[in-house]
Amino acid sequence: MPTPSKNLGKLPPYLFAEIDRKIDEAKKQGVDIISLGVGDPDLPTPKPIVDELLTAAADPSTHNYPPYHGTQEFRETACKWMKDRFGVEVDANTEALSLIGSKEGLAHTIVAYIEPGDVVLCPSPGYPVYNNYTLLMGGEVYTFPLLADNDFLPDLTTIPDDIAKRAKLLFLNYPNNPTGAIAPESFIQEAVAFCKKHDILLCHDNAYSEMTFDGYRAPSFLSVPGAKEVCVEYFSLSKMYNMTGWRVGFAVGNATGIKTLGTVKNNTDSGVFKAIQRASVSGLLRSDELTKDLNKIYGARRDLFVAGLKKLGWNFSPSAATFYLWIPVPTGMTSVDFVNLMLEKCGVVVPPGTGYGPEGEGFFRVALTVSEKRLQEVLDRMEKNGVTFSALAKQPANAG
Ligand SMILES: *Cc1c(COP(=O)(O)O)cnc(C)c1O
Repeated sequence: MPTPSKNLGKLPPYLFAEIDRKIDEAKKQGVDIISLGVGDPDLPTPKPIVDELLTAAADPSTHNYPPYHGTQEFRETACKWMKDRFGVEVDANTEALSLIGSKEGLAHTIVAYIEPGDVVLCPSPGYPVYNNYTLLMGGEVYTFPLLADNDFLPDLTTIPDDIAKRAKLLFLNYPNNPTGAIAPESFIQEAVAFCKKHDILLCHDNAYSEMTFDGYRAPSFLSVPGAKEVCVEYFSLSKMYNMTGWRVGFAVGNATGIKTLGTVKNNTDSGVFKAIQRASVSGLLRSDELTKDLNKIYGARRDLFVAGLKKLGWNFSPSAATFYLWIPVPTGMTSVDFVNLMLEKCGVVVPPGTGYGPEGEGFFRVALTVSEKRLQEVLDRMEKNGVTFSALAKQPANAG
């Protein structure tokens, strides 16, 4: 066999390998494992979307190649949704593109722009695609930290000028995976100004725009004046309507950015199955109603789990968005120590913060993708087995 590209060797090691091995072992011993690990909705896709797929799939006109950039109907509906939801005007013909899931669009944007010597600005902790696809293209990653002290927003002023000069892409993601953090408008303005100043394409991954609580409504970055001059925004139906397996999303924003991404796609994939695009249209047209129902469910789970953690000694307030909780591990422990303890003592799987970058140290992530009953079971097991903040936290050795 020929040797694979040396860029493959640059990918970080798979942090969950050791945890996966322990899960397999525990399962073999008959342990009832509860996984709060994956950001994959446990509930089915809403019925109107499934019904439309069944009808559309039976229509032979959906069976041939779709237009690679999306059907006219899909793009127009996505743009209408942008207008109704955010007040953002985007042109369906020049500023919108269907995606085979937003992950595909994020990765292909990196293919479209990055060659050796180019820098991509990536958050840590962050969604791994930004970092890893840059490495696959032979580009250079510059990581900026998302720290609790700064509400998990980057301090863009710390990025050195010579790095900013070589940077072509900045990846941001608010509401954020894994921290749940949200971005105030003042920060979005700052990010837009930074990208204008340094001629950088601002790639905003808005996969969780609809998953919000307590009356908070997440903005589109494109709603900030002037953003369209530098920004492409990626939306995904995956988390919006429990459609992770369907593989559909869209990119909207700067026409040159969209066209450049489209050139790579045109030479790579052949678009989204037309029946899935039709079903997606039926979802987008009743978006508020569908997401309201889902957020009620996630919100109840979130309230239950956060209240339970408080009783176990955690002093922590969740953010107003995403189905993730980014929770500090007891003081004095590492993320991996705590995650191992959860698995060994409670049979509960949670990813360590460091799975999303070194700056995730000190945290673990919970995905609220199991029922309230199972979440209560997790809390009960933690209490019963002494896996509580109160019992485990140690003052750091050099405190005070
Ligand atoms: C889930 C997720 C995506 C990917 O969504 P798809 O549309 O299913 O590819 C992108 N970004 C973030 C931050 C995610 O959590």
